[in-house]
Amino acid sequence: MPHDFEHQQDLPAGRSFLKVDAASNTPRKAPAAGVRRRELALDDYVQGVIDHDRAILGRCITLVESRNHQHQLLAREVLTRLMHRTGGARRIGITGVPGVGKSTFIETLGCNLVDAGNKVAVLAVDPSSGVSGGSILGDKTRMANLSAKPEAFIRPSPAGKTLGGVASKTRETMLICEAAGFDVILIETVGVGQSETVVADMTDFFLALMLAGAGDELQGIKRGLLELVDMIAINKADGDNKRKALRAAAEYQNALKYMHAGDEDTGDWAPPVMTCSAAENTGVDDIWQRIAHRVDRLREDGRLETKRRSQQLRWMWALIDEQLGQALREHPQVKSLVRQTEQQVQHGELPATAAADAVLHAFLSEREA
Ligand code: GDP
Repeated sequence: MPHDFEHQQDLPAGRSFLKVDAASNTPRKAPAAGVRRRELALDDYVQGVIDHDRAILGRCITLVESRNHQHQLLAREVLTRLMHRTGGARRIGITGVPGVGKSTFIETLGCNLVDAGNKVAVLAVDPSSGVSGGSILGDKTRMANLSAKPEAFIRPSPAGKTLGGVASKTRETMLICEAAGFDVILIETVGVGQSETVVADMTDFFLALMLAGAGDELQGIKRGLLELVDMIAINKADGDNKRKALRAAAEYQNALKYMHAGDEDTGDWAPPVMTCSAAENTGVDDIWQRIAHRVDRLREDGRLETKRRSQQLRWMWALIDEQLGQALREHPQVKSLVRQTEQQVQHGELPATAAADAVLHAFLSEREA
């Protein structure tokens, strides 16, 4: 079934990415009144992506991000047809607090990679973008050099109410980019809430950028993050900051050795701590060599495949959980019951277990009937 996205109405208010042609990374003129873009059918999307047609790639991702039910069905068909072409890229997650230098790092690394002959896609998981109405991550204006390169493709974080929803769109976009022949996928996120866990669970390698601070380097670092990372890179190791960065690297290295001692998952891998200056492009290549070497090694000995398979299964179950939860909350019987039940639980009149039973019963009984 053909679809037209120029006129789709299902994007949240305030989202502006339609004004920029994500495919060519250039501002797009609004179509003249009455001019409609050619509608695309299933085969157009599939062939366009395979042919690395950037305009169609951009529209295909818009299709994937759409909340319109018909679009979602079509997107699923497109993805299914493309699945056998996915999996070829190295998938790298990159996190760090705002200001650490993520976009500068991605820009520098991305340009290095393109210069070495790679095709690089930059995606983002930023659950706050739906709330603020615009993406703070993967923003082209923050990566002017990289976005000017035809071998690079930068896509801002999709909007979405839930982290699961946002992440799901990014995963699908990643697969489409792989089918289109991108061989490095960089997925950026911020160190907020669960977003790091989610990105670590869709990538082969997870890199945390950090800054050398004053005093105890390990203060304020979430233990959970140290468990997720495959490497820490202390950025801004330049000028007067260089010595501090080296000292911080030694402290992190100690902490990581302790944390990953005897870790079955990482096996032979103790996450290294490196230093770099994204601004001066020093250390960035070394970091990439270590990452690529590690991912390639995992691929060769089969561990990458195992890791990706379990990621796929967790994703499937996360989708099922999310959709079930949504169906439950939207169910009329449940809706009418829930407010009163919640109050009873809050006031200690009803145990949570009994309340959960009652809500589930209301949801399931009608389905069984
Ligand atoms: P993000 O918020 O993590 O994406 O950080 P940005 O990439 O926007 O960088 C935040 C600020 O740090 C900007 O002013 C950058 O110019 C600066 N910056 C980024 N990387 C470096 C670096 O390696 N060295 C120095 N000295 N400044 C950097």
